[in-house]
Amino acid sequence: MLDKYERNINYLRVSITDRCNLRCTYCRPKEGISLKGHEDILRYEQILRVVGQAVKMGFIKVRITGGEPLVRRGFVEFVQRLKKIEGLEDISLTTNGILLERFAKDIFAAGVRRINISLDSLDADRFREITGGGNLDDVLRGIDAADKAGFAPIKINTVVIRGFNDDEALEFARLAMKKPYQIRFIELMPVSMVNINQPREFMPNAELLKRIQKHFRLEESEKKKQSADGPARIFSLAGGAGEIGFINPVSDHFCSTCNRLRLTADGKLRACLLNESEVDLKKALARNCSDEELAGLIDRAIMLKPEKHDLDCTDRNLKKCYRDMSDIGG
Ligand code: SAM
Repeated sequence: MLDKYERNINYLRVSITDRCNLRCTYCRPKEGISLKGHEDILRYEQILRVVGQAVKMGFIKVRITGGEPLVRRGFVEFVQRLKKIEGLEDISLTTNGILLERFAKDIFAAGVRRINISLDSLDADRFREITGGGNLDDVLRGIDAADKAGFAPIKINTVVIRGFNDDEALEFARLAMKKPYQIRFIELMPVSMVNINQPREFMPNAELLKRIQKHFRLEESEKKKQSADGPARIFSLAGGAGEIGFINPVSDHFCSTCNRLRLTADGKLRACLLNESEVDLKKALARNCSDEELAGLIDRAIMLKPEKHDLDCTDRNLKKCYRDMSDIGG
């Protein structure tokens, strides 16, 4: 479906829970254990109904996210049911990898082929610090299990925080030399902003790219610019097994090609990550609304998509005006 700016909106990011087994400092407050009860969260049947309707309206891609999607009970069965929706061409997953060793095989068997694993540090102590107690080995074993299960390519998402992990850029590049992973550096966005000072800790990816180029020969992939990599700029590494990507939502926003809607765990359709416009589906779903009404609500969310997010992300007076990322679904 085309929005007001002629963008074809065909990609739904679905947050199935706001709960997470990590407490990443920039993603949610330390004390921010979910207060939402089961009754506040869409049931799987309701999510499947929304996706089914969206697919009838032209959506072809779904990414499952959270919170941490693998902590919600019945996840694999949910994916199996999602897979049965005719017309849905692509199901992908974003996970922190902590539980991946246990689930990788089953998720692959259920039909997911593309997986993004978040990993902000390759140093165990730092990883524990940034994630509020996470164990790096769990994630590394999860990545390994995903590799063995057959996921390809495996994408690793690394949020770059100046003064915290920017010095690990070369270490991540070395990992991409050795393994066939696509390491994607993501600029820190001013979402939630409880434990971070985004203007101070933000590092533009252009700076990181220059730093990596001093040590590795990178070649930008033209083909990948138009592919399923979405807004990432992808570079191959001469002599390496993997690739490096840069996602620049702050320094070089990609709103003109945005094709997404987000379904939050509590049943809101959000038109843009960095804009508060939302359409509530939960009430309508709870009273078992007609397909026409549901389609109308999805249509309304599409029409709410702004031309671009209007944040000056380096504005020091930026208000903490957003829901936490774990709440919206990253
Ligand atoms: N739990 C899953 C995970 O860790 O991948 C899925 C949800 S998490 C919110 C999705 C992604 O959003 C993670 O890669 C996380 O690093 C990223 N993220 C959270 N807050 C962010 C911020 N302020 N700026 C940039 N990325 C952020």
